[in-house]
Amino acid sequence: MMLVMTLSSVVLYNFFFYSLTQQLDSQLLTLADAAAHNLSAIQADRTAIHRKIQIIDDDGDLDIPWQDLRLYHQSVEWFDADKKLLAKAGEQFPQVPFVSSFHSWQQNGIRTLTIPVYASETNQQLLGYVRVSTSMVGIQKELNRLLMSLGITGVLEIALIAGTGWWLTSKALQPIERSFLQLQQFTADASHELRSPLTAMKTTVEVMQSHPERIHSDDIKKIALIESAIQQMTHLVEDLLLLARSDVASVSLSKTAIPIPVDEILFDLIDRLQPQAESQGITLEADLRDEVWVKGDAHQLQRLFGNLLENALQYTPHGGFIRVKMFKTDSFMVTEVTDTGIGIAPEHLPLVFNRFWRAEKARSRRQGGSGLGLAIAQAITYAHGGEISVTSKLGVGSCFRVKLPVFHNI
Ligand code: ADP
Repeated sequence: MMLVMTLSSVVLYNFFFYSLTQQLDSQLLTLADAAAHNLSAIQADRTAIHRKIQIIDDDGDLDIPWQDLRLYHQSVEWFDADKKLLAKAGEQFPQVPFVSSFHSWQQNGIRTLTIPVYASETNQQLLGYVRVSTSMVGIQKELNRLLMSLGITGVLEIALIAGTGWWLTSKALQPIERSFLQLQQFTADASHELRSPLTAMKTTVEVMQSHPERIHSDDIKKIALIESAIQQMTHLVEDLLLLARSDVASVSLSKTAIPIPVDEILFDLIDRLQPQAESQGITLEADLRDEVWVKGDAHQLQRLFGNLLENALQYTPHGGFIRVKMFKTDSFMVTEVTDTGIGIAPEHLPLVFNRFWRAEKARSRRQGGSGLGLAIAQAITYAHGGEISVTSKLGVGSCFRVKLPVFHNI
């Protein structure tokens, strides 16, 4: 809109400039025509110009009050056929070389018109030239006024357009925002509501399993399957609830956040996962820093790094290597989880943090994962004011990098 308005303002300004100078030129031509009548009289008597209203030519139509030229910031100069200045009247004389032809010129705010004067229409004997000039101050004032009003209306129009645009956009987005909020609320409510029946099912299965003698031998396997399915669903429901809550607000975190030693969380996690790594024939190594504090939620930070480490274990084959490295700057701590696993294809890298996204190959490799692990890791990182990124090479390995603001006042 600004571009369109600027363009139309430039066109309007130029159009006005052109029509005003055209008008000025026609005034100059009238003045030059009138002054041309006096050329022969001035040639005969150069002092004629200084006499007040007086007939100085023979056609009796001297109706130009020369003394009034000052009033209009105009001037007239008479030249003979040899381009010699004979007389001049008025003010604002141009400082340009004389041009001996019909010529219009503009310089230093003065517009000039030169016309040749002939003896008569039929007798084309050159008598001399008349050069008339006028100041452009009047036009410039008009143009400045135009420019100012264009500027003021432009600013007002932009403000109006911006305001209307903002209003219309927010109106148009309202239903989308509403349905988005409803969807978030629905996910949160559904996940919340699913928790109780799942807990009831889990308890029932646990009670059944605590009395194996009452279970028919054919059903033991089925009950174990039900228990595993309940566990998977509970996990999924917890994940969905966490994501739905993090969508609604990370503000709640700032209220409950406390300083957490991240190094301890990572030490605990590595300790817990070491046996699993050993059983998979994977070397799990840590290079951590002491006393690294982050303001946040301990449980959520555990989930964040737990998800990354579990993924690394999940997608690294036997004989692989996983390294957790931590370093710290003045304001940030960075934790890198690097593995020598199956890696992620470059076209998949932008998708890994999407909810429910899983690489096709991995889908067959792993049972139980829902594709929410990295989405949760990202939501937790954002809620803590941090960033998460990944670099990976298919068949070589992946490196997940979490950057979190450190807490100092300890
Ligand atoms: P899940 O692990 O439950 O499938 P995630 O959100 O944790 O879900 O991961 C999404 C997908 O990203 C995984 O299915 C897998 O394809 C890929 N991925 C995650 N971590 C790694 C990793 N360390 N190495 C290779 N692929 C990975």
